[in-house]
Amino acid sequence: MSSLDPGRKAGLRRELESLLGKSAVLSDPEELLVYESDGLTLFRALADFVIFPTSVEQVAAVVRLANRESLPFVARGAGTGLAGGCLPAEGGLVISLMRMNRVLEVDYENQIAVVEPGLVNLHLSWAVGPKGFYYAPDPSSQQACTIGGNIANNSGGPHTLKYGVTVNHVLGLEVVLPDGEIVWLGGRTRESQGYDLTGLFVGSEGTFGIATKIIVRILRRPQAVKTVLAVFDAVEAASESVSAVIGRGLVPAAMEMIDQLTISAVEDAFGCGYPRDAAAALLIELDGLREGMEAQAERVIAACRENGAREVRAARDETERQLLWKGRKSAFGAYGRISPAYMVMDGVIPRTRLPEVLHRVNEIVGAHDLRVGNVFHAGDGNLHPNILYDPRKPGEVERVVKAGGDILKVCAEVGGSISGEHGIGLEKIDYMPLIFTEADLHAMRGVRDAWNPRGLCNPGKIFPSRKACGEASIAYRPHPIEAQGLAQRF
Ligand SMILES: Cc1cc2nc3c(=O)[nH]c(=O)nc-3n(C[C@H](O)[C@H](O)[C@H](O)COP(=O)(O)OP(=O)(O)OC[C@H]3O[C@@H](n4cnc5c(N)ncnc54)[C@H](O)[C@@H]3O)c2cc1C
Repeated sequence: MSSLDPGRKAGLRRELESLLGKSAVLSDPEELLVYESDGLTLFRALADFVIFPTSVEQVAAVVRLANRESLPFVARGAGTGLAGGCLPAEGGLVISLMRMNRVLEVDYENQIAVVEPGLVNLHLSWAVGPKGFYYAPDPSSQQACTIGGNIANNSGGPHTLKYGVTVNHVLGLEVVLPDGEIVWLGGRTRESQGYDLTGLFVGSEGTFGIATKIIVRILRRPQAVKTVLAVFDAVEAASESVSAVIGRGLVPAAMEMIDQLTISAVEDAFGCGYPRDAAAALLIELDGLREGMEAQAERVIAACRENGAREVRAARDETERQLLWKGRKSAFGAYGRISPAYMVMDGVIPRTRLPEVLHRVNEIVGAHDLRVGNVFHAGDGNLHPNILYDPRKPGEVERVVKAGGDILKVCAEVGGSISGEHGIGLEKIDYMPLIFTEADLHAMRGVRDAWNPRGLCNPGKIFPSRKACGEASIAYRPHPIEAQGLAQRF
């Protein structure tokens, strides 16, 4: 819903067009609708303008204009976020970085690449692949999500277990600060003097400014890769195998768990070769030197067998390996065939509590008369319960939100966290008090305010906005932006 009167809006449109060109400015309601939500469709909010800059100078000019006009603004990558992070919660400008999508430089000797923020994650690996390199952070959305969005959410992926999250792969950033100034944080080497401002920016969910160039590490492809599928008749046995493998001193590149409901959905959609009757499957990937790889795989297989796997097999060739990964990486899409909607939760727990927490997740969702599919980064203890629902059924959305909150409470109770990689965004602001004290939140707001003193850069995100949020009650209540008629929950 536009908060601007028509005269002012028309004047701003003319000014934006003169800065960016006519084809780079959207303001008709039908065009804006495309940008009203990200991958979390529970929240929707309309911007006044969606704009498509192609250079840092254009981004800076637009941010300066937003400051002059006191207009909120938010950066947007591919909109695959699952926490409503890129929504224009208070209207204003959506700054889409999708036209800034070039690989600007690759320095193979120093193993770095300089890229624009709208570059799709997987396209970087494609660009450097022919020379035997790749970009390690690999969110399951990597065919669509952008490196700018990855920076903002400090995204991880299946290979986080061994290679770490985005922050471990970013060396430097060119940033347009919330007042329009252009600065560089970090640089081309791993160590830099002073505060680690690059590290602070990564994971700030678009509230510290807009990244316009990114210097990342690229890695040499490992000599050998071995992918193992372990099949279980009980989720508990699969969970225990995760700890058993790591307990033996093995560090797989990835350990992903897929539960029964997800296996069925994936098999119906893609036929990837997971046994339909299994209670759970683990996809375990080892990579590294060719020497010793077979021996490591044998130790992984033995650990799974000793902990109750009914079948363990290694992918015979690259085609089979890709098919197994396709099942894992397309699981979210497969839910679309069995449910009109689903909400992806993103919690973290200590790995050893997996069997107990999964049991509680199933209990919670069952108690709300809903279904859940679990597909997640088991090696990191990063859970993704996907609660399936039908938004057309009265009361079902409220039950989903309640079940999601109850799951996050369990994550917090066992010493985990309410987000592993998707961020807090709009979705989880009410849950922050589960893991942070009022003093913690005050300190974090102070950091945000130092970068973003006027609060124009991605407002309404991360922090609870009501005093009552400090209370323990996390029941569904209308979000302030809903109350103002700026967003709707479906
Ligand atoms: C099917 C599916 C699977 C997923 N799997 C994973 C997974 O395995 N791991 C994972 O971590 N996430 C996963 N996600 C979530 C999502 O893909 C990631 O959070 C991703 O990093 C978002 O990138 P994006 O380009 O779509 O960003 P958007 O959704 O457009 O924006 C996300 C945040 O980034 C900010 N932002 C965007 N560009 C910039 C910029 N240039 N400068 C500053 N801030 C910016 C936005 O303001 C917003 O706060 C998945 C999502 C889907 C739909």
